[in-house]
Amino acid sequence: MQSKRQLKKTIYDVLIVGSGVAGMYGALHFDDDTDVLLLSKYGKTVSNSNLAQGGVAAVLSFKDDSFEQHIEDTMIAGLRCNDIEAVDILVREGPNDVRRLIEWGVNFDKNENGELDLTLEGGHSRRRILHYKDSTGAEIVRGLLKKVEEKENIELAENAYLCDLTKVKSGFRADILINGSYESIFCSYCILCTGGIGRVYQYTTNPKTATGDGIRIAYELGARIKNLSYIQFHPTAFNSDDGERFLISESVRGEGAYLLNCNLERFMHRYDDRLELAPRDVVSKSIILESRRTGSNEFYLDIRHKSKEYLMERFPAIYAGCLKYGVDISKDLIPVFPCQHYLMGGIEVDLDSKTTVPRLYAAGECANTGVHGKNRLASNSLLEALVFSRRAAQDIKRYMANGTPKVTEHSFNVDYTGAPLPPGTADEIRSIMQRSYFVLPNPDKIRTGLQQAENILKRLKSAKFAKTIDYLEALSLATVATIILSEVENL
Ligand SMILES: Cc1cc2nc3c(=O)[nH]c(=O)nc-3n(C[C@H](O)[C@H](O)[C@H](O)COP(=O)(O)OP(=O)(O)OC[C@H]3O[C@@H](n4cnc5c(N)ncnc54)[C@H](O)[C@@H]3O)c2cc1C
Repeated sequence: MQSKRQLKKTIYDVLIVGSGVAGMYGALHFDDDTDVLLLSKYGKTVSNSNLAQGGVAAVLSFKDDSFEQHIEDTMIAGLRCNDIEAVDILVREGPNDVRRLIEWGVNFDKNENGELDLTLEGGHSRRRILHYKDSTGAEIVRGLLKKVEEKENIELAENAYLCDLTKVKSGFRADILINGSYESIFCSYCILCTGGIGRVYQYTTNPKTATGDGIRIAYELGARIKNLSYIQFHPTAFNSDDGERFLISESVRGEGAYLLNCNLERFMHRYDDRLELAPRDVVSKSIILESRRTGSNEFYLDIRHKSKEYLMERFPAIYAGCLKYGVDISKDLIPVFPCQHYLMGGIEVDLDSKTTVPRLYAAGECANTGVHGKNRLASNSLLEALVFSRRAAQDIKRYMANGTPKVTEHSFNVDYTGAPLPPGTADEIRSIMQRSYFVLPNPDKIRTGLQQAENILKRLKSAKFAKTIDYLEALSLATVATIILSEVENL
């Protein structure tokens, strides 16, 4: 017997995959007569966006800052491998998107004079980071979600996993696993906003959503993928046994924390004049080089010179998070070590977020706009998610206004049945990545790592497995790992 459909329609104008900042902000830029389906793989607030601590960078005042300075800081962090046109758009258009968030009721901290309290993070030469305590992402998600839920033209579906996207005339068919049942819909346009790939590593700051599904789906459709090996390893995640590691934001160093080695000595002067405020890639590599020098993986952040009151007020989430591990940051050193954090590359897009596949767009962390170059400047990614998801929506609106044809229903047949995925496949991929390419590529392990990843991918594609989330996520991880390692091998 056919079970009752959970999605309201069979045809939508636009499918947006992902309810992080990119997905929701993009969705809010469509007109009220545009039917938008917004998917969230798990709960609507499980995303990288919701975990963002430090803030969003934007030049809102020219007293002590300029667009040129923000552009220059972005280019320096990106090792000048950035796309300068994309950086220009990011920096010049971003402030208006941030102002829009404020108009829409998103809160940012203010100082005693009632002005925005701008903070500093590694690689920024000026205080230009707006933040809401140390839970900026959650506050932006709260504000956007409230607006999305007020909109009648946006249908937000939770526990709705996009399995596959198939090209049909004037759009796509999307096969979706929603609360355990399979449903298919048709859309004229699709924006992939599926976030990062952190779960391809054993240790990451990313939540369980970050398996690179959007990248796999775009790749299977023939879209070009670019710079997938440009991965950011955050220098200071809380050093625990958890796969999803708790981030100790850059702004803790921005507010004066020292980085110490196993002998409790500051050591950054050996590697970079900017000391603790050097960009993330530099600090992560310095930690790895220092660990080789000392023979120890023990590293600490020390912020004990700030008062408990200040720390509890400025970093309430970090204070509470560390306390869960028995560390009181006003009295104790914080054990830290680098881990996977962010993907700079992704699905290749142009300045309007168009991929190389007609009617397919990508925005946010899964896309490669080129703004970050080889290394993202802290707090530029929420800004990128805002600016380029809005541009995707604006581009689609231009096509729709020009009367481009809309998708219609097509007949189809999908077979979801097959054998269960053998347990441990995803872990196998994670340990390959951890061994082959963590902070610094390991030349001895890349070749074999690539062969192992390719073999897993072949196995997953050749046998007939049931299309469960476990299987499809493993397929995404294996696809992503194979692309990353083949890029690194050819560097
Ligand atoms: C701990 C942490 C701290 C950070 N701090 C900052 C910061 O201070 N400043 C900053 O600028 N950036 C920060 N970042 C990075 C920033 O949060 C992300 O780059 C940004 O939020 C990405 O937004 P997004 O919308 O592209 O993806 P996400 O917010 O990750 O959203 C992805 C969405 O895609 C959905 N999805 C994925 N696959 C599927 C599928 N197959 N079917 C259906 N839905 C799917 C997920 O359910 C989710 O809703 C931080 C990241 C982390 C992890």
